[in-house]
Amino acid sequence: MNLPRTDYHIHTHYLGCANSTMTIPEIIQECQSFGVTSLAITDHLNTPEQIPLHLKIRQELEQLEAEIEIFFGVELNFTRCDGDFVFSQEIKDKIGFQFAIGGIHTTYLEQYDLKKLVEIQHRHHLKTCLHPLVDVLVHPYWFGKGEFDRNNWPWFDSMKAIPISYIRELGQVARETGTAIEINSSANLSNFRFSHQYVEEYLEFLAILNEEKVCFSLCSDAHSREKLKTVQTSWQVAEKLGLPSERIWKPPVKSFVKKDQVRN
Ligand SMILES: [Zn+2]
Ligand SMILES: [Zn+2]
Repeated sequence: MNLPRTDYHIHTHYLGCANSTMTIPEIIQECQSFGVTSLAITDHLNTPEQIPLHLKIRQELEQLEAEIEIFFGVELNFTRCDGDFVFSQEIKDKIGFQFAIGGIHTTYLEQYDLKKLVEIQHRHHLKTCLHPLVDVLVHPYWFGKGEFDRNNWPWFDSMKAIPISYIRELGQVARETGTAIEINSSANLSNFRFSHQYVEEYLEFLAILNEEKVCFSLCSDAHSREKLKTVQTSWQVAEKLGLPSERIWKPPVKSFVKKDQVRN
């Protein structure tokens, strides 16, 4: 199989959520060492105060020399339950983001209720797909374990809680809106917080989305250098699912750092 070796979800040290090993030159060097041919920097944009940090990333990318394709994206999060993203066409143009990925990052529950938890996730997944400026839905059914531990809630460790009708609906809406869905290694597939059973069930979830003919974005979501390699798990899953290369998402623009320009 010759599927694209891409990683379109990577964090840097700039926003402070990734550690100091995640400088842009180190990310590129590490990715090249195991065969990534195209990558994107996609740091968080959760509040307007973070906008100047993205300008710094952009400035660094503009100075860059690299032999692989590099894109400049952004990861969006909801401001509250049923809220919006901190994003607009104006912000996109002003900062020069080439694309946006986004999704829900918390349960928005006050009391544990599994049915409600799944319903809130599903609702936000659909809302993300329907957003005209979002290209990729991030890590569906990833949760931060800290939120569960703090509240003494049973951990989310089975994808069986999700009705098949939700999965089919997500697939249909993603396909119709042209939104890709992530096959995210460090959040979902090789996250030590999740059991072997969750991962097995996650593969079944992806297989149903594949039946609905959605596009998938392969990514590590790395916040530290050693996690970059986990993207290989996403590549393996894409092969196992038998994805045709035309359903593996690529940013709909030219690389920010041009290969041939750099080689001169
Ligand atoms: Zn995220
Ligand atoms: Zn992320």
